[in-house]
Amino acid sequence: MSIASNIAKIKASIPAGVALVAVSKTKPVSMIEEAYASGQRVFGENRAQELAEKHQVLPQDIEWHMIGHMQSNKVKYIAEFVELIHSVDSLKLLKEINHRAAQHGRVIGCLLQFHIAQESTKFGFDLEEAQEMLNSTEFQSMNNIRIQGVMGMATFTDNENQVRSEFSTLFQFFNQLKQSHFSGNDHFKDVSMGMSGDYQIAIEEGSTMVRIGSTIFGSR
Ligand SMILES: *Cc1c(COP(=O)(O)O)cnc(C)c1O
Repeated sequence: MSIASNIAKIKASIPAGVALVAVSKTKPVSMIEEAYASGQRVFGENRAQELAEKHQVLPQDIEWHMIGHMQSNKVKYIAEFVELIHSVDSLKLLKEINHRAAQHGRVIGCLLQFHIAQESTKFGFDLEEAQEMLNSTEFQSMNNIRIQGVMGMATFTDNENQVRSEFSTLFQFFNQLKQSHFSGNDHFKDVSMGMSGDYQIAIEEGSTMVRIGSTIFGSR
């Protein structure tokens, strides 16, 4: 199977309103070019320096998304061009994104990452922590970030019911935040959930954005 046909197959299997982020981490530029040639424009990476290096050599109309856990000191590598950071998991990180975005005269889209999995290795807020942050005066004074929704990763398991229930929880968090902090805010609309192994379930549970790597580019 070619990269182009893998993408075509996924596109045919997801609703038109669901965005496809092609996760190209660890994969060479040549593979991204192949995906680009088939029309894919949105790519996701999980390491800031790798993302910056690829951005530099690839077509400038690619929309780059950061999907992996970030140390604040890495924001500077991507602040000039990154379109969406899916993995905001602390006020400290958000403050740094705001600061670097301001330096470039930009507004950077952000998703709040929630910890919905059983594994402790995964990052993210719980609902209370996120609401506390959103209530803080520090958050309310940030003008160069835009919170566009939520992101989460389900537990890596064959138990479909568990995965479904974790995605359902994330969707409920999205709805609760929409009500409590983003009502009437048209930018707050994204629920980033679903990877190669579980994106069908994620879509059934309300995903608007799937992040798919190995089904497109092969295993890592
Ligand atoms: C690697 C990664 C993906 C894609 O995983 P696949 O199973 O290869 O589709 C999605 N989201 C995040 C946060 C990742 O790190």
